[in-house]
Amino acid sequence: MIIAVDGPAAAGKGTIARALAQHFSYHHLDTGTLYRRVGLELLKSDGDIHDSRVATAIARNLHAYAWLDYELRTEAVGAAASIVAGIPEVRAALLDFQRNFAEQQPGAVLDGRDIGTVVCPHAEVKLFVTASPEVRAKRRLAELQESGADVSFEAILHDILQRDERDRNRAVAPLACAADAVIIDTSELTTDEAIAAAIRTAGSVR
Ligand code: C5P
Repeated sequence: MIIAVDGPAAAGKGTIARALAQHFSYHHLDTGTLYRRVGLELLKSDGDIHDSRVATAIARNLHAYAWLDYELRTEAVGAAASIVAGIPEVRAALLDFQRNFAEQQPGAVLDGRDIGTVVCPHAEVKLFVTASPEVRAKRRLAELQESGADVSFEAILHDILQRDERDRNRAVAPLACAADAVIIDTSELTTDEAIAAAIRTAGSVR
């Protein structure tokens, strides 16, 4: 049983995917962390963020690098992740790991941008979680302020729009809603309401 949860940055897909995994006792993979880890290592290496050769070498050897969770969650690493995610060889290097993860019993929830379209096109449940850019920027701002970061709403909104643009328009595995996905727009929903909608949808297929 595979549940694919796709959507743009800060729409709530991570929260929904974690809640689904807990509810059904499935494994959970936040696939964005894979791209974030490649982006982080590239930033640490002081190399050119657009260097596809180095990025691909890092992606092929990802298990060899250590990282701290908080390092992955910064806006700079998110932006770097969305740049390396546009490199076809990087995506190819991360594909088998994601597909093997998805095959685990009794089931798996994977969240990302291309799970229902490329990684697991045969997933039994596909959700596309979205929200307006302004709502997503407000949520991301609250998260960052909670962790003590000094950032403005305008800067976050700008980052989110830029990341959407890159993720939607790249040539390989762009962010897209699968034709058979159920859309959950969380703009007007509380966290509990969004989770309940996702559990209802997944439960009806399961
Ligand atoms: O979801 P998160 O913000 O952690 O993802 C970081 C970046 O990784 C995204 O902006 C996107 O470019 C990339 N990504 C991807 N495919 C996935 C998951 C994330 O391209 N399945």
